[in-house]
Amino acid sequence: MIREIRLFGDPVLREPAEPVAAIDDRVRALVADLVETMYEADGVGLAAPQVGIGLRVIVVDTREEEGSGALALINPRIADASVETDKVEEGCLSIPGIAEIVERPARVVVEALDPDGEPVRIEADGLSARALQHEVDHLDGVLFLDRLSALKRKMALQKWRKLQEEDAG
Ligand code: ZN
Repeated sequence: MIREIRLFGDPVLREPAEPVAAIDDRVRALVADLVETMYEADGVGLAAPQVGIGLRVIVVDTREEEGSGALALINPRIADASVETDKVEEGCLSIPGIAEIVERPARVVVEALDPDGEPVRIEADGLSARALQHEVDHLDGVLFLDRLSALKRKMALQKWRKLQEEDAG
């Protein structure tokens, strides 16, 4: 089922998400919906708070490997991050129309549970490392705009308000 993606300004995007206590049918349905919603929106990642659900569940598919499919992670955490950083342009399905260069660690290790409840450890670099960090941020109520300099953030927010006014008009 495709769910409605919450947009910047919706308070659910600022609330820290709760850990998943048990991976039941409800959680598995959420995972399936997140994957479907992400593909429909042509995104590379989606976190449960973005569809209004305050649980620590993310999906990513950076399409870096053909046919690898979506990666669904329950209770993911960044276990390790490289000192070396990358600066890459980033966007967010909850902030459409805004893209800015964000500096993040180039490589991360993510520990999580898969949808079967099995522990997984993922060593990621490139776009995958970036998408995983962006989505885990969502679980803490953090948006990529928060990782910009004060000036860049102010400019991005001005652009966002202008885009919203244009939509409303
Ligand atoms: Zn996002």
